[in-house]
Amino acid sequence: MELRAGDVVEAALTTEHEGVRCMDQRGDGACVALDAATMLCTIYETRPQTCRDFNRGETLCRAVLARAAARRERLNLGIKKAGTFCPRRGSAI
Ligand code: SF4
Repeated sequence: MELRAGDVVEAALTTEHEGVRCMDQRGDGACVALDAATMLCTIYETRPQTCRDFNRGETLCRAVLARAAARRERLNLGIKKAGTFCPRRGSAI
């Protein structure tokens, strides 16, 4: 997920794709700020603006979850696909 000007996120949780600062992801595609055990955001109070704008359960949310499930399935099957889905862009980055 692309970070915006004004987002304050610890550098260790971010990465850069083609000059764009983004939240980093774990190997399964999940955001590194997501606690895998609790499924809660570990930086909720300071989460990026995109996360604040993103309403759980809305159409885009469900689309991202479906893509994440498909990605996990591909990983489980050993199939690789280039790029990571960015909800803000609505495409792979
Ligand atoms: S709300 Fe979700 S995507 Fe945003 S920083 Fe937290 S765990 Fe990451």
